[in-house]
Amino acid sequence: MRLLLLFYLEYLVAVKLRIYNGELYPCERVSDVLDYFKIGTLENGLDIKQIWEIMNVGKLTEYECINCWNLRLCSICSAQLEFSTEPTRQHKLQECIRSEARALFELYELAVLYEFGLDIESIEESL
Ligand code: SF4
Repeated sequence: MRLLLLFYLEYLVAVKLRIYNGELYPCERVSDVLDYFKIGTLENGLDIKQIWEIMNVGKLTEYECINCWNLRLCSICSAQLEFSTEPTRQHKLQECIRSEARALFELYELAVLYEFGLDIESIEESL
């Protein structure tokens, strides 16, 4: 877990970290109005507990995720959830509906492209 956290911190600093009024946020997609997304300040450094909280948003629905057909395609992150103080299981489940719809649409598109002759395997090999 420590290694994962270190990787995330390195990623944050190298790629995404956003600074607004001296406060640190994980990326440009999160709201700077919500304290939940504040992961530290320039003055006091990073708030590891809050980073851990945001990284583990998946825990809110871990039992649903284990049985979900969309687990391998799902990419929900905290920034997508609609909440006012901190995300709950219900907030996450609302986004699950959209995630499943997106995955279904992408699978549908792939199926149509395949029907029209798209060579999926050659595309996967070139990636
Ligand atoms: S759609 Fe919801 S339940 Fe399914 S894998 Fe994603 S977060 Fe988990």
